[in-house]
Formats: sequence, structure tokens, C-alpha cells
Amino acid sequence: IAAKTQFFFLFFEVDVQGRVRLVMESALTARDRVGVQDFVLLENYNSEAAFIENLRRRFKENLIYTYIGSVLVSVNPYKDLEIYSKQQMERYRGVSFYEISPHIYALSDNAYRAMRTERKDQCILISGESGAGKTEASKKILLYYAVTCPANDHMAALGEQLLQSNPVLEAFGNAKTLRNDNSSRFGKYMDVQFDFRGAPVGGHILNYLLEKSRVVHQNHGERNFHIFYQLLDGGDDDLLHKLGLERNPQKFQYLVKGNCPRVSSISDKNNWKVVMKALSVIGFTEEEVQNLLNVIASVLHLGNTQFGEGEEGETFITTETQMPNLAELLGVDGSALGNALTHKKLTAKGEEMITPLNFEQAVSARDALAKAVYGRTFTWLVEKINQSLALKVHTMPSSVIGLLDIYGFEVLQHNSFEQFCINYCNEKLQQLFIELTLRSEQEEYETEGIAWETVQYFDNKIICDLIEEKHKGIISILDEECLRPGETCDVSFLEKLEDTLGGHPHFVTHKLANGKTRRVMNREEFRLLHYAGEVNYNVNGFLEKNNDLLNRNLKEVMCQSDNQIVSQCFRREEVMDQKRPEMAATQFKNSLMKLMEILMSKEPSYVRCIKPNDGKQAGKFDEVLVRHQVKYLGLMENLRVRRAGFAYRRRFEAFLQRYKPLCPDTWPNWHGRLADGVSLLVNHLGYKPEEYKLGRSKIFIRFPRTLFNTEDALEA
Ligand code: ATP
Ligand code: MG
Repeated sequence: IAAKTQFFFLFFEVDVQGRVRLVMESALTARDRVGVQDFVLLENYNSEAAFIENLRRRFKENLIYTYIGSVLVSVNPYKDLEIYSKQQMERYRGVSFYEISPHIYALSDNAYRAMRTERKDQCILISGESGAGKTEASKKILLYYAVTCPANDHMAALGEQLLQSNPVLEAFGNAKTLRNDNSSRFGKYMDVQFDFRGAPVGGHILNYLLEKSRVVHQNHGERNFHIFYQLLDGGDDDLLHKLGLERNPQKFQYLVKGNCPRVSSISDKNNWKVVMKALSVIGFTEEEVQNLLNVIASVLHLGNTQFGEGEEGETFITTETQMPNLAELLGVDGSALGNALTHKKLTAKGEEMITPLNFEQAVSARDALAKAVYGRTFTWLVEKINQSLALKVHTMPSSVIGLLDIYGFEVLQHNSFEQFCINYCNEKLQQLFIELTLRSEQEEYETEGIAWETVQYFDNKIICDLIEEKHKGIISILDEECLRPGETCDVSFLEKLEDTLGGHPHFVTHKLANGKTRRVMNREEFRLLHYAGEVNYNVNGFLEKNNDLLNRNLKEVMCQSDNQIVSQCFRREEVMDQKRPEMAATQFKNSLMKLMEILMSKEPSYVRCIKPNDGKQAGKFDEVLVRHQVKYLGLMENLRVRRAGFAYRRRFEAFLQRYKPLCPDTWPNWHGRLADGVSLLVNHLGYKPEEYKLGRSKIFIRFPRTLFNTEDALEA
């Protein structure tokens, strides 16, 4: 039942026991119980405690969404709330932000309408730490468009393909971690393209930095990528037999490290079916699926390939019997593969030399091959999905909504190269956020003819420069150290950092400026003072991960593969090309630069996701944990910028419509100029000049109290 009065909306729901429950109301009228629905309405907007209390109150009432102006803050409920139905979608269509309680659908709809009316490309940036609900949010947005946008049969099919890309990418790119049973181990940016009628006509995905190290190693309590377990649990006997696989995951070296073959919240068997169906909806041929499964199985067999050491230190394969199977799955010659796993080809003075690898080198060559095969197959998969989602020639795209679901700021017990890249990415996004938020605030003030009031904020450009600057930045130094001939190692990289960056206000190591040692810091670590907080990075493995090398003779074997996927992933040109490919961090930096360009050209909306507790529990709000995230996400800064001038703004017509009963001159209807009506109304209400300003089409109110008094007058 929806009751609409002149002043506010009340919605009631009858539950299964026949109890009537108030599920939504104008949040302005119920602020004591459920807090304010927009943080800009907080009386004490500088108080972190007030901010968190507001989040907590709302969370307890299952109100997981709150705005900071146009930014949506979302707290993971860890339970299914009945707020995502088709009816709910309908309720949010075409409705303005303020008329209805905050929701991911409101944000989705707003972006969609802005795209259609202003003809400007949009992007929705979703951030938050692992398990905060980013991927779920992005799926809800996508579903909203798939369900609510106009579409003919062809477009509906495309919408379905867009949706089905999720289970596929999640199978290959997500894994169970300690923080999240379905953690995305890659960054994703997806464009949804719409035609002039606002119907979805195409899509495109960009993927970022897959955590390849997981293929060969998992921490205790974590798993490898879902697809391996799905195949073993869901694949039928015939298939497993063909692939030479046993059903028990514990039989595979690459799956046993985390000692966690099963996850109670996950049904690998069902998900296998979902993924197989999704692959066919997206348009993968049977042959492609078979090739894909061959690759996945080959990675498991690679993991079980073991080495022995001969008397002269040479290495040989002890699991010879499984080599033919492995070679067949990869579509390569078995003896060539065996040789390439135990030998290295060097070119010295124009001559090629084959030298045997020692035991450790062979193990690391094998792992490098497994990571390369898996990582490149993932990229191939994304490309393949893109081909299916690509615009057909007869459709003309008009505009785009981009969705960014990318790793949030990460501080672990042990932070390595991956965290360094992830946190660098967050610095870049923060920079973009500041630039775009300030830009849009300034633009609004200008269009409305209101004097711009300077906002003080922390500009994190200094940290971005520290990381990415040419020649002097951390990434440049890392690349140089990887390329420098002679003995280089992670420690020499750290020394180089100290020499070049020692004294930088955002860079710290155990060495103090006076030559003494900072005892509390590990000698293998450097600390960066990020905008969101301090993080210590352990340099162990930085060089190897940045190098990301695969021996040339292994590449040579792979590029001769007759498995179509493998041969597309390992190109002959790569082996011929003497130039060294870009290193991992530089590649990442370049792809981030491109991403920033894409995002800069669009109108952004933000979803900031928060994880309420570490136990994946419903109803539990851990204040300490939430406080950390509020800090890392820069929400207080966000609120400060948004509140710097005015707490609240509303178009004249909306303001008049709501408050006209409070003034005899505007009630029941005002027929004059809107600005004059608003002027009469606020004079009648006794607004003081310092409390508000009238722009060209909007009224700007400086303090929430002014608005609350007006609301109270309305209720009275
Ligand atoms: P990661 O960075 O590890 O990929 P994430 O931010 O993408 O994390 P999600 O995978 O979206 O996190 O969410 C983690 C889990 O939290 C989901 O599997 C789901 O169980 C729960 N969850 C998240 N959002 C919601 C929601 N709106 N309603 C119900 N449950 C949710
Ligand atoms: Mg995710």
C-alpha cells in the first residue's frame, strides 16, 4: 500500500504473518529514528562520530543506502533484502533523488536519464574494500538496465549476454579469499552502449591486473580461481576422463595450498552448470569451450609436474607418465615441452646456447608457464566476450554508461607488489574524484551565478607523482632495477629507492635522515603515506613480479600449439621480437592512464561500498572497521567538499511544490516567476540572508537546521 499525501510518502508492507510494517517514509521526517538519508543534512558534518552513528542507525533499520549529495554510500547487509524486485525497479524509474529513499536503482536511473537528456556519456565508479559489495552493486546496476530499458528481441538478447558475462568472468577471475567467498581478483571496467532510443546495443569490457600468482599459490583458507573446482565438481565422468583429471581437488598441487577445497556458501556443481550455459549464451562454440577446458586442465597437470635433481645438478621430470596428457591438452609437442621446462635458451655473442635449469629454476619456469597460460587465457576470454557484445554494424551507438568495479584500497598483514599496484590505482581514482567533484561543484555554482567559495582539500597528486613520475618515481626505479645488468635483487631495489626518495614526505624506510635506524620498521619494507593511510610494502618478490618473465624456449613451444586458444595467446611475433615487453607495473600504469582518460570524458557517479564486519555476518555493525573504511574511502573529505558552501540545493519548482502550503502567497498555487515565489516563501519563513542564496534555477541552503525547521513546520 502506498499512501501519498501532499507532503510526504509513506509505504507499508504486509509481511507473511500479516503484520504491517512501515518500510519507507520521507527520511527527513524520520531522521531521529533512521538518521538522515543524505549526509549533507548532518548537523555536525565535520564529526566522524556523527557520520558513523548515522550509518549505524540506518543499517539497523536495513536502510543500507545513504547519499553524500549525489554519491551513494552502501553498507553490505550480508543478507538478501527484498529491495531489488522488478516492482522496486519500476518505483525508481524517472523519479528524482530526493523524492524517494536512496537506492542503487536511483543512482542507476539518474545516470541513465542524464545520459539521455544531456546526451553525455556517464560512468559509475564503484569502490570499497574486498567484500564490501562492489561486484554485487555492479550486477544490480546492469540488471536494472537490462530490465528497465526499452528493447527489441535482438537487444534483449544482448542484455542477456551482458548479464551472462558475469558468471563467466567470475568463474575465471574470482576466488574464495579470507575476506570474501567470491572475491574478484581482477579489476573490471564495462561499457554499456545505448542507441538513440536508450536501448542497450553493445558492450565492452576492459580487464585489469589479474592476480596470477593465485594460480600457483594460495594462502591458508583461500582457494584458487573458482573454475578449477567447478570443473572437478560439475564436469561429468567422461569429460574428466578425457581431460585426465581426478575428481578430488586435493590431488592437485595447485589446489591444495590453501587446504580449503570446499566453501559452504558456494555450490561448485551448480555454478558449473551456470557457467557452461552462460558460455553458450554468449556464443562460445563447442570447440572453443573444449579448448578452454583443455587449457584449464593443463594448468592442473602442470602443477602436478614434478622435478628431480641429477648428480650434476641437472633437473629432470619425475612425472614423465603424465607428460603426453599435458602436451596433448596444450596442443604441443611433449618432448619439446619437457625440454623447455628443464632447459633455458640463451643467446650470447649471436650464438644460441642451451643450458640446463637447476631444480628451483625448473619449478619457477613451470609456475611461470602456468601463470602465463592462465593469465593470457583470461584475457582471451574477455576478448571473446567483447566480440559477442560488440555493436552490430546496423546499430548506431549514441551514448555510453561505464561501470567500474575495481579493487579498493588494500592493507594486509603482508603487502606486496599486488597491493602496491592496487593502492596506486586508488590514488589515481581519488585524484580523479577530487578533480571531478570540485569541477562539477564549481560548474554548478557558475551556471547558477553564485560566487565560488574556495574549498580546502588534500591534493594527493604528490603521492601519484611519487609512484609514477618518469625517472624519479617508484615504478621507474623498479623498471630500471629489473633491467640493470649484473646482480640486482629486491634489496638493491629498496636501496635505490632510499637513495632517490629518502626525505620525500610520503616515503619512509627504516633509515632515518640522520643515518640512524628506525627500529620499528622491517629492513625489507618501505612505507607509503597514502591519502587513505599508511601502508608498509615488503619488497620481496617485487622484481620477479614486475619482470613477469617466461623463458623464451617455453614461448617457442607454446606458439606452435594447435590448441586455438593457446596459439592465439602466444604469438610467433612475440618470440621473434627482440624488444623486451613492458614490465608489469608500467603496463599497469599505462592501462590506468587510459582508464583515467576514459573516465575523465564522462560524467561520473559514485558508489562507495562499506563492509560492516569481518565475519560476513548479517546485522553486525563493527564501528572500528567501518571507521577505517570511512577514512580510506575519503568520505569525510567528500562530505566536507560537498558541504563547503551549501548543505542543500533544490530546483525552484521542487522547493515551491513541497513548501508552498507554508505561505499564503504561494498556496494553493503560485503563478508568477518561480524565483519570485521562492523568494516570497523564504521571506515568509524568516530565512536570514546568510542562510540561503538564490541561483538561476535552484535555491541553495547553507545549514541543515534551516531545512529541518521548514520540514517541521510542514509536519506541524
Ligand atoms: P572483492 O573486492 O573481494 O571482489 P566486492 O566488494 O566485490 O569484493 P562482493 O563480492 O560484491 O564484494 O560482495 C561480497 C558478498 O557480500 C556477496 O557475495 C554477498 O554475499 C554479499 N553482498 C554484497 N552486497 C550485497 C547486497 N546488496 N545484498 C545482499 N548481500 C550482499
Ligand atoms: Mg568483487
